[in-house]
Formats: sequence, C-alpha cells, structure tokens
Amino acid sequence: MKNILFYDTKPYDKEYFEKFNSKYQIEYTDVKLSAKTAVLAKGFDGVCAFVNDVIDAKAIEKLYKCGVKVIAMRCAGYSNIDFKAAYKKINVVRVPAYSPFAVAEHTMALLLGINRQIHKAYNRIKEHNFSIVGLTGTDLHGKTVGVIGTGKIGKCFINICKGFCMKVLAYDLFPDKNAGLEYVSLDDLLKNSDVISLHCPLTEQTNRIINADAFSKMKKGVYLLNTSRGALIETEALLDALNDGTVKAAGLDVYEEENDLFFEDNSNTLIKDDVLSLLISKPNVLLTSHQAFLTREALETIAKITLSNLDAFFDGKPLENEVCYHCNGNNLENCIKNQNGRCF
Ligand code: NAD
Repeated sequence: MKNILFYDTKPYDKEYFEKFNSKYQIEYTDVKLSAKTAVLAKGFDGVCAFVNDVIDAKAIEKLYKCGVKVIAMRCAGYSNIDFKAAYKKINVVRVPAYSPFAVAEHTMALLLGINRQIHKAYNRIKEHNFSIVGLTGTDLHGKTVGVIGTGKIGKCFINICKGFCMKVLAYDLFPDKNAGLEYVSLDDLLKNSDVISLHCPLTEQTNRIINADAFSKMKKGVYLLNTSRGALIETEALLDALNDGTVKAAGLDVYEEENDLFFEDNSNTLIKDDVLSLLISKPNVLLTSHQAFLTREALETIAKITLSNLDAFFDGKPLENEVCYHCNGNNLENCIKNQNGRCF
C-alpha cells in the first residue's frame, strides 16, 4: 500500500478524504509543508499539499531526497510551487476545478455584503440597535461589473452578475471568443466598472496587477472584490484608495501575506502584520479567510480528484492534471505531455 503524508490537515479535509480513500495509507499532519518540514516525508511515496504550503526549491530538494515521487495539490492554484526545481524530479498534480460555483457564489456574497453592509447590520441587531442610518447601498441592477480573468470561476461569477441584470465588461490575456462577452482593455475595464472582480491566477504578470496606477484609473466609489490570490492587489495602495474614497468598499477572501495567518485560529495571538490590522479595522472592508472554496460539493470533488490523480500516478497512467515547469497549466505546446501523457 502506497503511503501519503497529508500536510496542513484541517478537520474538513480529513473527513472527506477518509470518506473516499480506500487505497492509500494516509498520515495526516497539521504541519504546513516547507523546507523545514519536508523531512517529515521521509519514507512516504507522495505528499498532499495546499495553497499556503511553501513548496520552494529547498523544500522540493528535501522531498526528493526523502524519496517522495509525487506532490498531489488538493487545490487549483499552484503559485506556491517552484516548478523549475521539481522538473524531472517530482511530478505535481492538482485539482484544476472542483466547484467554480463555490468561489463565484462567495464572491457575490462579498459583493452583497459590502453593498448592503450586512456585517454592520448583523452587529447592530445583536446590540438591539435597529437603526438603519448609514446602511444605504446601491442597486446592482444596471451597474457595470468588470471581471478580470474569464476562466471557470470568472464565467460563473459573470453568469451570477447577469442574473442581477448587471452589465459585464471582461478582460483576459486569452479572451474566449465563444463566450459572448464584451472584452475590453484592462484600462477601459478599470475606467468604466462600478464593481471590479479578480479571477485571474497569480503569475509574474498579474502580481500586484491592482496597484496605485490601477487605482488611479478607477471610477470613484468602485467596489473591489478579490477571491483569487492576495498578491493580485498591492495592499498599501488599496488602503490609500479606501482612504481617499476611490474604493468605496472591498470584499476580500485572500490577502498577500496570508500564509502564516489564514486558515488558523489566531484569536489568542498578537497579529504583527500592521497592514492586515489596518485592513481589518476598516468598516468598509469585508475580509474572509480564504473560504470561498469551502462547500460540501467542493470538498467532495477535491478528495475524489486528488485520489484519482494519485491512482493515475502510481498506476503509470497519463496524468491529465499534471502541471510542470514547461506547461504551467495551460501552455501545453511547450510540454511533452501532449505525446506522452506525462510532463516527464
Ligand atoms: P482558470 O484557469 O479557469 O481561469 C483563469 C483565467 O485567467 C483564464 O481565462 C486565463 O486566461 C486568465 N488569465 C491568465 N493570465 C491572465 C492575465 N495576465 N490577465 C488576465 N487574465 C489572465 O482558473 P479558475 O478556476 O477560474 O480560478 C481562478 C483563480 O481563482 C485561481 O487561479 C485561484 O487563484 C483562485 N481560486 C481561489 C479560491 C478560493 O477559495 N478563494 C479557490 C479556487 C481558486
């Protein structure tokens, strides 16, 4: 029986993997994968990791020396992996889609929350304060939403927005000509949107795509949503934009420095990240802790696809969900997976 070390385990992970696993001996640890903890994988055939594990060159070298042959990511994003270091040493598989609906619906929850200030209303009612002064929102009907990244999640979110009769502007590096969307330049999207929502991956190109320059092009009073990756936004510039009213409110599920904080109970810890503390202190910021994916359907699909990725790997079959230094998800023509079914 192959054995797998499951890093950064949360109770909901274990519940769903235990339900669907029959083939593997899985050891669960709540420790995150990093260069320091990679040594724990000695003697394991594979490891299972998540978005905030730090899978850099050092961690990969240690995993390789420990005999690990596969890293099974139980998520879609992979900006935390040094693919160059892993190439020809450890295969990396992922779950490209589990529930785009989960993330898109959470994005709309954030938009509705910041627009109608549900978080404030909830607190007021708890204190028997039934005043509605200061809670004025705006009709979303007829407003323009600019969606950056029109892949699986972006498209789901667009459909939800269309249900609210919003006008949609789209920007994507690879526009989908068959999607029936109005694609515009990034500048035009920034200039003309009442709501801006980020659904592109974190890459060198998209790192801090929303920076001071981008904020300077936005309509005054825009709503900003980010359920993608924290580093798409330069947080200090966002704080300035919130202070000067460029951004009326922000709904965020991710934060650029979230790694050591999100997913954990830090209620008895002094948070030393002053930028995050400032962000949290803003009444017009609704921040959730990277929970957009967290639905029963998504957890079930994550467990099933991760286990079937491991099956394909250990059975020597083609790895449909493999990502490598060359193909990095969608650049298949640079990768031998086309012919061989595996990246190496
Ligand atoms: P996807 O690959 O289906 O879509 C991404 C889209 O972004 C593609 O259309 C791609 O062409 C586009 N894109 C790539 N580079 C771009 C650029 N420079 N500018 C504009 N567009 C660009 O991915 P998806 O499944 O829709 O997921 C989107 C992102 O959502 C993931 O990368 C991940 O970071 C994030 N995510 C977050 C959660 C969460 O719980 N918060 C869960 C899953 C995914």
